[in-house]
Amino acid sequence: MKVYFLGTGTSQGIPVIGSDHFVCLSEDLKDKRLRVSVWIYDEDFSIVIDCGPDFRQQMLVSKCRYIDGLLFTHEHADHTAGLDDIRPFYFKQGDIPVYAHQRVLDNLSKRFDYIFEKENKYPGAPSVVPFEVRNNQNFQIKKQEIIPINALHGNLQVFGYRIKDFVYLTDVKTIATSELEKLKNIDVLVVNALRFEPHHTHFNIEEAINFINLVQPKKTYLTHISHILGLHEEVQKQLPENVFLAYDNLEIEIK
Ligand SMILES: [Zn+2]
Repeated sequence: MKVYFLGTGTSQGIPVIGSDHFVCLSEDLKDKRLRVSVWIYDEDFSIVIDCGPDFRQQMLVSKCRYIDGLLFTHEHADHTAGLDDIRPFYFKQGDIPVYAHQRVLDNLSKRFDYIFEKENKYPGAPSVVPFEVRNNQNFQIKKQEIIPINALHGNLQVFGYRIKDFVYLTDVKTIATSELEKLKNIDVLVVNALRFEPHHTHFNIEEAINFINLVQPKKTYLTHISHILGLHEEVQKQLPENVFLAYDNLEIEIK
């Protein structure tokens, strides 16, 4: 199974529009971060988590050809605003299966009513098949079991997902101890770490590292990164062993 980091930036992406911050001006490709998303695939399935405003660009670069399931973590725009660009997949595959908390499905069906509409549809508008994700209810995409993991982004519920021994968690600030059972024996954890300073709805570096120490995955990649965190190369040197900053277009293999 492979995991391709489609985007690793926080809500504005890096560079931030109009910014003269040294990270935004960096020429290192690892300092250029689209909005956060991953593509997880092997011979049998192809899953994309979140569909932010950079989705089109991400699909062009990654060469993802098919989506068996589009999973959402939550409804914030940096995770959902690209939904219209599923059109090429819809033309090729038909209705695209989307998986999210019922609250998120309701939100998307308001914001993208023409995509969720079943009658009098505008010809050429994409269509989806919505599937509700419930906590403590595992589900399958093409025989691959997916385990939802419940967490909080400030006051907002978010889902992370476990697929085999890989876990993807973003926009997390707190997580109940009862959820840690689902995070046992992980090979690779992806978790959000916004910056060094604390933030009211995101883990900072220290909170992410405390969480990693609790979960003890073999390897961790940090994502949902703000330009305020600093240059990729410099921050990487300050991280503990087996903790890495993810970067756009990084691809890793999970056994
Ligand atoms: Zn976000």
